[in-house]
Amino acid sequence: MTASITAIRRAEIPAQGLQLDLCWDAALLAQLPEDSCRDIEPPLHVQLRFRPEGGRIIMDGTCRAQCRIACVRCLERFEYPLTRSFRYVFQLPGMHKAAGNVQLGAEDIEAVVLDGEQIDLLAPVLEQVCLGLPAYPHCSSGCRGLCPQCGANLNTGACACTSATGPRSPFAVLGTLKKRHEQA
Ligand SMILES: [Zn+2]
Ligand SMILES: [Zn+2]
Repeated sequence: MTASITAIRRAEIPAQGLQLDLCWDAALLAQLPEDSCRDIEPPLHVQLRFRPEGGRIIMDGTCRAQCRIACVRCLERFEYPLTRSFRYVFQLPGMHKAAGNVQLGAEDIEAVVLDGEQIDLLAPVLEQVCLGLPAYPHCSSGCRGLCPQCGANLNTGACACTSATGPRSPFAVLGTLKKRHEQA
């Protein structure tokens, strides 16, 4: 039951800390705005550890899911196994400047000031899913992309344009220059 919660209350975090192993399934993810999770193949596994410290609550997390993202060259979707670790620091209200002993490392996200009792888990985790996906994904390092003329996926084979007959293909121009050179 607790595996599908998407928020906790500060009072639920004991002084010794708390660990949550969450599994957000298709039904839960379907309730979210489509563009925030359309690349995720449910379920999304989330492990979170909370630790109160001074005027803050430290949240260390890992999220893991199989994603399907579109290659920027051939536009085909492909499987991308996402694993991302992150840390959020929630600052308690009225304790903004509290002297804490927490050292913020390079991997840390800036502190988030809590405005109530509730800590929302969805927004930070989905933000991390977005950050964990490549900005310019390639289905493979050797992806041939689409033919600029007919739009065929060149990974599945050559299209009719590749016989250097297309006047706008830069390669066709090179081929013509080469022929001229050989004939000269
Ligand atoms: Zn591709
Ligand atoms: Zn073509």
